[in-house]
Amino acid sequence: MTEQGYDGTPVAALRRIAFLLERGRADSYKVKAYRGAAAAVLPLAPDEIAARAAAGTLTELPGVGASTARVIAEAVAGRMPDKLAEVEEQYGAPLTADGAGTALRAGLRGDLHSHSDWSDGGSPIEEMAMTAMELGHDYLVLTDHSPRLKVARGLSAERLTRQLGVVEAVNAHLARAGFRLLKGIEVDILDDGSLDQTEEMLARLEVRVASVHSKLAMDPEPLTRRMVAAVRNPFTNVLGHCTGRLVTGNRGTRAESRFDARTVFEACAEEGVAVEINSRPERRDPPTRLLELARDAGCLFSIDSDAHAPGQLDYPLLGCERAEAAGIDADRIVNTWPVERLLEWARP
Ligand SMILES: [Zn+2]
Ligand SMILES: [Zn+2]
Repeated sequence: MTEQGYDGTPVAALRRIAFLLERGRADSYKVKAYRGAAAAVLPLAPDEIAARAAAGTLTELPGVGASTARVIAEAVAGRMPDKLAEVEEQYGAPLTADGAGTALRAGLRGDLHSHSDWSDGGSPIEEMAMTAMELGHDYLVLTDHSPRLKVARGLSAERLTRQLGVVEAVNAHLARAGFRLLKGIEVDILDDGSLDQTEEMLARLEVRVASVHSKLAMDPEPLTRRMVAAVRNPFTNVLGHCTGRLVTGNRGTRAESRFDARTVFEACAEEGVAVEINSRPERRDPPTRLLELARDAGCLFSIDSDAHAPGQLDYPLLGCERAEAAGIDADRIVNTWPVERLLEWARP
C-alpha cells in the first residue's frame, strides 16, 4: 500500500493504519486489532456497514472493538479517521529524506527475505503476499526460519512441506495478477557451516537465504570457516545479515560478529552468492565499510526487507539509499532482475 493507500473505505483505513504501525515496528499484537477488523468488514456490503455504524452495532461483529468501530464509523461518514490521521502524522513520512533511494527502489522487482506467522512473523502468508503485490513487487520470497531456531518457531521438514502447499494455493489466486510468491527459507548456518534443513527440502525450494543466528560471538577464525562453508554450499543463494549486529530498537544493541570479511566476500563473489543488504532499521547490515568491501570484491547483492509484518515490506527503500550511497550498480542487485533470471540464478 502506497502513501495513497487510503481510498475512503473502512477496509482501506484499517489496513493503512496497520501498515503504518508495522512500518513503525509496532508490536504485532497492537496491529492485529486493525487487521482483524478489516477482515471482519471486508465481506459486508457498504449499506450494511453504514447501517451498523448508524445503529452503533459495529462492535457486535466479531473482531470489531470500540476503537476499530470508531475508525469504521468515521470512514463511513466520509471523514479522515482520527486514528489514521494520528499514525499518518507519526509514521507516514517517507522513510528516507530528499527522495534518497527512490530511483533504485523503482527498479526493484521483488524481495528475497520475509516471514509469516508460520515462524516469527505476525501475519498470514496471504497477507504478506497481497501487500507485496500492492507495493508493486512482481515476486516475494517467503523465507520462514529453519528447525533449529526454536524461539522463532522454525519449520520442520514436515511443516515446511505443508507450507509449500499453502504457497501453491496462494499462487493459484494471485497468478492472474502477474504476481508470484516464491518458495524459500531463511536457513540457519549451523556451527560447522552446514545448513539446518534436509537437502531434499532445500532442493524443493526456489530461493534460500542462509544466516547465522547462533554463536555470533564465536572466534573470528572458526566463524570465517563456518560462513565460507555455508557460502560454498550449492544451495545457498543469499548470505543474510552477515554481521548480526543490532544498532537500535527494543531488542537492544549487539556488536558485529567478527570474521574475515574479505575471505567471506571473495567466496560469495566466486560462488555467485548475493550479500544481503538487510534493510531493517535496527540491523543496517552490512555496515558501510563492509558494504564497500563487498562491492570491491565483485559481489552480487540482494536488498531485502526481512519483513515480519506486511508494513515492513516497505523497508527496502532504506537499503536502496545505502546501496546508492555506496555506488552499487543496479544490475548487481539480484532483485532488480526479472523473476525468470532470478530463478535461473538461484537454481543449485
Ligand atoms: Zn535472520
Ligand atoms: Zn529473517
